[in-house]
Amino acid sequence: MLIYGWRTTHIKSEANTYVSCPHCGEKGGITNNVFGSYVHIFWTPTISIGKKGAAQCHHCKKVANPKR
Ligand SMILES: [Zn+2]
Repeated sequence: MLIYGWRTTHIKSEANTYVSCPHCGEKGGITNNVFGSYVHIFWTPTISIGKKGAAQCHHCKKVANPKR
C-alpha cells in the first residue's frame, strides 16, 4: 500500500488571445494550462513542489511549453 507519493493536478486553464501558435501560426487559439505538483502523505496533499505551465493550441492541438 502506498502511503506517500506525488501527484500532478490541473489547476486552471486560461485562454491567451495575444500569442500566436509556434506550430501553425494561428492567433488567439492558445490555452494556457497550469498544473501543480505536490507530495501527499496518507492521501493528504502536504508539500507543494511547484507549478508547471503548458500551452495547447486549439487549431493544431500541439502543446508548447512557454518559457517564463
Ligand atoms: Zn497551432
